[in-house]
Amino acid sequence: MNDEYQRLASTCCDNGMLEIVWQDGASSNFHPIWLRDNCRCEICGDPAIGYRNLRLTQLDLDCKPRSIETTSAMLSIVWDDGHRSQYPGSWLRSHAYDEALRAARVFVPRPWDRRFRSNPPGCEYADAVGDDAALLRVLQRVRDHGICFLRNAPAEPGIVEALARRFGFPQESNFGRVQDLRFDPGKRSIANDVKALKPHTDEPYRASPPGLLLFHCIANDQRGAGASLFMDGFELATRLRQHDAEGFAALCRNNQAFRRHFAGDVDLIAEFPVISIDEFGNLCGVRVNDRVAAPLSIPAGQIEVYYRGLRYLLGLAENESLMLRQTLQPGDIAIFDNHRVLHGRSDLTINGQRWLQWVQVERGDFHSSLRIFADRLGIERDANPLLRGAYGSALQT
Ligand SMILES: [Zn+2]
Repeated sequence: MNDEYQRLASTCCDNGMLEIVWQDGASSNFHPIWLRDNCRCEICGDPAIGYRNLRLTQLDLDCKPRSIETTSAMLSIVWDDGHRSQYPGSWLRSHAYDEALRAARVFVPRPWDRRFRSNPPGCEYADAVGDDAALLRVLQRVRDHGICFLRNAPAEPGIVEALARRFGFPQESNFGRVQDLRFDPGKRSIANDVKALKPHTDEPYRASPPGLLLFHCIANDQRGAGASLFMDGFELATRLRQHDAEGFAALCRNNQAFRRHFAGDVDLIAEFPVISIDEFGNLCGVRVNDRVAAPLSIPAGQIEVYYRGLRYLLGLAENESLMLRQTLQPGDIAIFDNHRVLHGRSDLTINGQRWLQWVQVERGDFHSSLRIFADRLGIERDANPLLRGAYGSALQT
């Protein structure tokens, strides 16, 4: 970053706002209450660890600067109650909330294309577990593309849980902490059905669906069948948006109900949009799984356009040319973002063996590891929020 970008040239106080002009010619406006609320002095808190002593209820919403001093590196304010605040120019620039700067700070995903599908990102398992820099690259690929494959891990149970612990905590649910997907014709579950499993995201009926999923192949002698299928939910959503903007908007604006009842004492119901976007219209998550869709409760005027959009999206999710097809070999591990990437499986042959072990990691812990590994390696960390996930839309499109 060039120096002028974060060096202050001047300030002026006009219309109750503080305007800061930077040496590169750009300017940003700040409200006095925002500055006072974000005072970085030691009385007000410890910004290095994200701890605040300051309570908003102690502040006057109409607080005003009594005096303002600017050097090229620092803005200093004495407030009308005598409190003193200082703000480094670099901090102000990276937190300025002008519309364009806010838009530049959100995470903008790049959808997959044919080239990506023909050469998906991968890494040797031994490198990922033995070298923090290699593991960080794996996590960054999951951040940027939603998926990365590890090769040549030991084909033994327990490996994937230990891998998850390298960058998060395996999350326990009603399925347990480590789930075994074993093909066994005598035992019924969806994963054991011989027919293909359409690509979907997992557990959209939860308030917080699994963040990252890690699938580890321990056995697979399907002789070409039983391939894992992956699709970029953002590529599908982008194609829907291009094809039918109203149908896309209906899937962002309205909640889809999802439900799954498990015999015993678990009955999960959640209502969230199929497509989540941020306030700038960027994709930030999908919940695509019509096997667990529950009756819609949306405005009557939205029903037709909603079904039109959803049917098109689900049609795309059956389009084989958009699928990344990987026959996981014993020792292969797929790490993918369940709020972005759909997964499924092609037909199994009746006599074949197939054993996958999977765990899930919460996305906040994954994002934390991206920052912490970067810090440990002394490289630039992700300062900005990362992909938020399928938690609803900030913009009423
Ligand atoms: Zn203070």
